[in-house]
Amino acid sequence: MVGTNTPRKFQIKIAVLPGDGIGTEIVAEAIKVLKVLDLSFEMETALVGGAAYEAHGHPLPPATLELAKAADAILFGAVGDWKYDSLDRPLRPEQAILGLRKNLSLFANFRPAICYEQLVNASSLKPELVSGLDILIIRELTGDIYFGQPRGRRVATDGHFPGTQEAFDTMRYSKPEIERIAHVTFQAARKRNKKVTSVDKSNVLETFQFWKDVVTEVHAQYPDVALDHMYVDNAAMQLVKEPKKFDVIVTGNMFGDILSDEASMLTGSIGMLPSASLNAKNQGLYEPSHGSAPDIAGKNIANPLATILSAAMMLRFSLNQTAAADRIESAVSAVLSQGLRTADIYSQGTQKVSTQQMGDAVVAAITKTSKG
Ligand code: NAD
Repeated sequence: MVGTNTPRKFQIKIAVLPGDGIGTEIVAEAIKVLKVLDLSFEMETALVGGAAYEAHGHPLPPATLELAKAADAILFGAVGDWKYDSLDRPLRPEQAILGLRKNLSLFANFRPAICYEQLVNASSLKPELVSGLDILIIRELTGDIYFGQPRGRRVATDGHFPGTQEAFDTMRYSKPEIERIAHVTFQAARKRNKKVTSVDKSNVLETFQFWKDVVTEVHAQYPDVALDHMYVDNAAMQLVKEPKKFDVIVTGNMFGDILSDEASMLTGSIGMLPSASLNAKNQGLYEPSHGSAPDIAGKNIANPLATILSAAMMLRFSLNQTAAADRIESAVSAVLSQGLRTADIYSQGTQKVSTQQMGDAVVAAITKTSKG
């Protein structure tokens, strides 16, 4: 079950899928960090997204999928570029993520939104609203409107829909899908402040009245955890009004997509936010919450910390290496305390560093603690 750790005696296998845009730059820094830990990993890299489409004509080639399936964990960068917008939808880079989620049954997406004290002033909200912020958004990942049926549309070669009068996607959730994400959520809440907010749109959508009913039913098995329900529009508002009132938020795929991006800005930058997508066997895909940022790709200015923190989550959730995860997280905090900032989190009085310099600084902070 997600969140439990089983001891491993065999070699740890990590599939490394850097992807497109800044994906290759930030994953390189996370690998640098993993390599200075005293752990032995088998890491194998494969193409995914636009890079895989260019080389093999498909964003998730069979060899990449097989590598991912055979691994204990996947370290993922980001995929996508606007130049692929006119491709048929199944060939677009982003389909690789949907394919990995579906094929590996990665149904639980954990997105912590933690505001580092050193970055309180980088948030778009007043410091007193975000100081000490530590919330966890759990997004259901394999159901909802993103996987509804029917979803096919005939796409013209230029990517437009001449003569089309209507387009639709269906929203659906099955009872087992809601039950399993609810169990994962209540179990995660037990390790935190035992407070869950289930976000829905039950006033308008049947799917989310069902969601609310099933979450409430599962809650009966977790009487020690407090549960409340909130409409998604109100949740979007409360997240900027009083974000610290939340502890764990659980919601469906689409609402979770939007709310977790909103929450990311509370922490200063989307470049700081890691994420984990887990299945029932604790196998996970670990990636930053942001995309491939084509606007800054190749400039050595992207913030690698979300990816480095995703590697820490990987060590904690899938690889049973809690001490190593702690070391990475402490090193990230140390470099922020040193005043080092990539451009996205830079403010006056701090020192602007490149992607590689930030990775080097985290490595140095880890090495220093091993020696000390
Ligand atoms: P994005 O997250 O790539 O970028 C949004 C903004 O945040 C940009 O200004 C970018 O420069 C900035 N940004 C993102 N990550 C950063 C980092 N680490 N450091 C500094 N700044 C950072 O979102 P977008 O521009 O809407 O999408 C770009 C491409 O990424 C699209 O093709 C989209 O489909 C894809 N995408 C992929 C994923 C994924 O791979 N999981 C997620 C979201 C978007």
